[in-house]
Amino acid sequence: MLKKFLYAFWILILLICVFFGLRNNSYETFIQSMENRTFDIRQNIQVNSGVRKHNKDIVIVAIDDASYEYILDNYGEWPLPRDKYAQMVNYVEKQHPENIAFDLMFVKSMKSGDMADNTLINIFKKYNNVYTAMNLDDQPKDLRIPPQLPDKLTVKPYPNASDAMEYTNCRVILQGILNATSNIGMINVSRSEDGVLRRMPLYLKYDGKYYPQLGYLISSKTGKLKNFTPDKDGSVILNWYGGAGTFENIPMYKLLKAAEGKGKLNYNFKNKTVYFGATAASLFDIKTVPVDKVYPGVEVQATYVNNLTDGSLIKKTSPVVNIILGIILAVLTAIFVLKIESILVALGLSVTVYFLYTIMTYYLMVYKNLWVEIVPPLNIAILTFIAAVVIRYLIKSRDFDKQYKLATTDGLTDLYNHRYFQEQMLRYCNHAKRYNTIFSLIILDIDFFKKFNDNYGHQSGDVVLRQVAYTLKKNVRATDIVCRYGGEEMSIILPNAKKEEAVSIAQKLCDMVAAKMFKLSNNRESHVTISLGVSTYGETDGTEPSKIIESADKRLYNAKEHGRNRVN
Ligand code: GH3
Ligand code: MG
Ligand code: MG
Repeated sequence: MLKKFLYAFWILILLICVFFGLRNNSYETFIQSMENRTFDIRQNIQVNSGVRKHNKDIVIVAIDDASYEYILDNYGEWPLPRDKYAQMVNYVEKQHPENIAFDLMFVKSMKSGDMADNTLINIFKKYNNVYTAMNLDDQPKDLRIPPQLPDKLTVKPYPNASDAMEYTNCRVILQGILNATSNIGMINVSRSEDGVLRRMPLYLKYDGKYYPQLGYLISSKTGKLKNFTPDKDGSVILNWYGGAGTFENIPMYKLLKAAEGKGKLNYNFKNKTVYFGATAASLFDIKTVPVDKVYPGVEVQATYVNNLTDGSLIKKTSPVVNIILGIILAVLTAIFVLKIESILVALGLSVTVYFLYTIMTYYLMVYKNLWVEIVPPLNIAILTFIAAVVIRYLIKSRDFDKQYKLATTDGLTDLYNHRYFQEQMLRYCNHAKRYNTIFSLIILDIDFFKKFNDNYGHQSGDVVLRQVAYTLKKNVRATDIVCRYGGEEMSIILPNAKKEEAVSIAQKLCDMVAAKMFKLSNNRESHVTISLGVSTYGETDGTEPSKIIESADKRLYNAKEHGRNRVN
């Protein structure tokens, strides 16, 4: 009883924890951040397994450590004079690239002169496939006067884009470029709560208008943009399947040398998307992404364009699908735990199913670009496992109680059976021997019961037998053990009862039975009497079960001899 109560209490506590846990934001955040980690792990395995081919249509012109040193050595300063970029664009454009994009902001510079700036501005005027970046931020308005951005830079956002990232300020690039081209996109990124960059916005909000992310802008202009559905905040999940080295990489100093006619670059930019950006340790625009803690920003941008144009953006399954998957896992778990004999086999099968499920989510990510959640469904399944184990135990203990009762009680009278009586006799004898205690035994038999059966029928006999048994049980202590000795004979073990007490209890029972009107079938009533023999553990009556029983039996026989309806 206590055990059942404790189990029930435990389940209740568990349910309360789960209920409040689900209502509590931090639990959800915890589960979600665990899920994000499984996403990262899946992405990492994919990168390391090399199942995806790397995209060679995108080339990164990297301002790496070597290029940074080359620039300092040859121009004496950083940043590079603006006209040098113009020279490189001209060099690349001769080979007809798809487009050229700068993951660099050409903000107002104190170092570059007007001449160099104008050369760059003219390049933006000249080529319609050259893109550059701006950055929105949240500087207080009184620090910087936020500029009016030309309308030509705005985009029409997806419907219900109210959750799009919103900013109060923008870092202005050269006014000339702003006027010369509409090929300007934002390079803001969107980080998860743990600071890892997993998503990219399609557009950002500033001053009530929407501006495109640079990668999104480039991809839509090329006409290579594949179909996809963004989240309601207008963001998409990046697929890092290539990892570092997905794209061709050319150190900028090599291109610079070739553009200045000082060297030869053995590379053809035809039909390529050419991304300029910094990868040098000292200039590092470092991001933490699922596949690396230090990832150059320009590679993030290139990954974005790559995903948008080859259709590899990650789709996340809807919460409904995740709940259904959780329920399927939970049902399987419950079947295993409740239907399989061995709990170890059930555990093994459940773990195998969870393992297969996890493997499946990996392949769905690799081959279908699908993010099927692992942690929330497994969370449901594991809670189910715990609950099912508890239920299994409850059922088992109930079955055990049932079996035990069946094995120790008599079906007709509901008293303990003969076997139980013998066990208890042995137990009390041993106990009395060891602890020097005593106990008494009453054996009783219904008088002239054969005749009773003959007169009223066997069924009425059974009814009376039951009522006598009930009367005995009701009128002894809870610690006394009332058994059906056999036929219409019953026995009562009275722990700690001396002879005199036992005799007086026996007399009380004798009188009670004699005084009672027993109801029979057909509204008939009848009296019966009993005869009782009493013996007590000790030298006189014996210290072994058989001897004590024999003594009680003898006294019962005596009682019968002396007229029945009495105690001896
Ligand atoms: P006595 O006073 O000497 O005990 O006379 P008696 O007729 O009761 O004699 P005895 O105890 O030897 O007889 C037992 C009878 O009890 C035999 C049988 O008809 C009856 N009896 C035993 N078990 C049951 C039972 O389960 N149901 C019914 N109805 N009768 C039973
Ligand atoms: Mg009898
Ligand atoms: Mg008898």
